[in-house]
Amino acid sequence: MEAVPTGQRSSHQSVEKGRSRHKIPRGVETDIAYLYEVLPQLSRIFRIIDKIGEGTFSTVYLAEAQMTDGSRRMFALKHLIPTSHPVRIAAELQCLTVAGGTENVMGVTYCFRKEHHVVIVMPYMEHQTFVDIVGSLSFEDVKHYIFHLLKALRHIHKFGIIHRDIKPTNFLFNQQRREYTLVDFGLAQGTPDTQIELLKVVKAKAHKGGGSSKMVEESLGKQKLVPLPPNTRNSAILSSTKAPAKRPCPPARIKHSKGLLLKTKREEVIPRKIVSSKHRSVPVRPPLNQKPKPPAVSPMLTCNCFMTDRVCNICLSRKQQVAPRAGTPGFRAPEVLTKCPNQGTAIDMWSAGVILLSLLSGRYPFFKASDDLIALTQIMTIRGSRETKEAAKTFGKSIVCSRELPRLDLRILCETLRGLRSWDDTSLPAEFQTSRNPAEVKQDAGSPAKKHMSSGSLRSIAELQEMGWDKAPDDVYDLLDKLLDLNPATRITASMALQHPLFKDMTD
Ligand code: ADP
Ligand code: MG
Ligand code: ZN
Repeated sequence: MEAVPTGQRSSHQSVEKGRSRHKIPRGVETDIAYLYEVLPQLSRIFRIIDKIGEGTFSTVYLAEAQMTDGSRRMFALKHLIPTSHPVRIAAELQCLTVAGGTENVMGVTYCFRKEHHVVIVMPYMEHQTFVDIVGSLSFEDVKHYIFHLLKALRHIHKFGIIHRDIKPTNFLFNQQRREYTLVDFGLAQGTPDTQIELLKVVKAKAHKGGGSSKMVEESLGKQKLVPLPPNTRNSAILSSTKAPAKRPCPPARIKHSKGLLLKTKREEVIPRKIVSSKHRSVPVRPPLNQKPKPPAVSPMLTCNCFMTDRVCNICLSRKQQVAPRAGTPGFRAPEVLTKCPNQGTAIDMWSAGVILLSLLSGRYPFFKASDDLIALTQIMTIRGSRETKEAAKTFGKSIVCSRELPRLDLRILCETLRGLRSWDDTSLPAEFQTSRNPAEVKQDAGSPAKKHMSSGSLRSIAELQEMGWDKAPDDVYDLLDKLLDLNPATRITASMALQHPLFKDMTD
């Protein structure tokens, strides 16, 4: 949320005094007061109770409203950062209105706007934090979770929506009620035949933050307004707003790896350089509807940095390749990490695979990568370096890696991390033993005796058996393997995944 001049805040604080009995932190109280101030129409309908989420692009509040039948209902109010690109906001709303409200996809109730402040009102869904529950889920819980995530994905993919940010914080889960909801279309993009008209306007450039009013007017010229309930229509957001100062978009190029990975713990795994197609050794990217050609094998030596860990001046001056790469590094598919320009709904399936990997191993986050090269290295550690290189070739990318990394058996990997198998019986790379889950770190802090234990040891074998982990069928690892298919062209789709034998006893 943007900083507010203190003068404005204090004038509102007196109005908000009554709210202090809710025991909410002072900072939150100030933020709530600010929200009432910038969107005064909210105060006539909602009592804002608390802040429930704060990200780079929005702040989400819990609010209560009195309904016409006298009942009280809870809502989530998503206040978008005022610098969000208006087309982005409109597209996010259109995803919710057109595809939401069914099949485990969040719907929208209202939308309010005043000047450049927009609040999306959604039904509130009470949910747990993934990290708190990931270790305590039974095998059946996990099966349900992934089934419902796949249902949501099948639904949005039918509309030609690529979510682009599939991760546990965007898939809300209520363990007791077994309720699931996909949220956050703030990064969504459309497939070429998308049914969400505004996603056709959203270009890679129109990231969540930043936008110019000129661009908005141009891009909205031919667009209809987002359909909203009648009573909110005149607050629809698509009039041309004076866009505030432009926020810089996240950098869109893969950094050359010079010195980067050498600083990380995984010294033995050094992809010296990702040769993106800006290098002359790789053919120019094909048009979107054309199958990419595999890269030429022998480089044309027009520059002298190929296969080294340096970036020469010729390469530095090349035009950067533009490919969408929004999302969270640890959940990004290989084709996103290597900046393949031709990306489809398969990228969401990869992310669902990473979530399943967390659910099966009990580790979250599974891939904790601060940048794309580290993320790619971590993928290779699990899926194999040769396999990753081969898959990359199919989408026109060439990866150079200094060491061969074997593909791991997913069942052995997950069972060992969970504590069902002893570390001594596996040949897992050493780094897995040192990467521990947060629960374990907490325990370690207070109990030095536990320091030598692997995270899986937190639960006894008997407990794990009771949770059904010893009887997890091969089917679930087969599905995981198909979701984590390095090649997007063969990766399982959501509707195919729902037909997987794993779900034979589940009603769709
Ligand atoms: P952002 O774009 O900032 O990530 P999200 O739409 O993902 O915004 O919302 C951020 C967080 O707010 C979510 O992770 C979730 O915890 C909470 N949240 C969002 N929508 C709802 C909702 N409808 N009900 C309950 N909590 C929600
Ligand atoms: Mg989110
Ligand atoms: Zn070069």
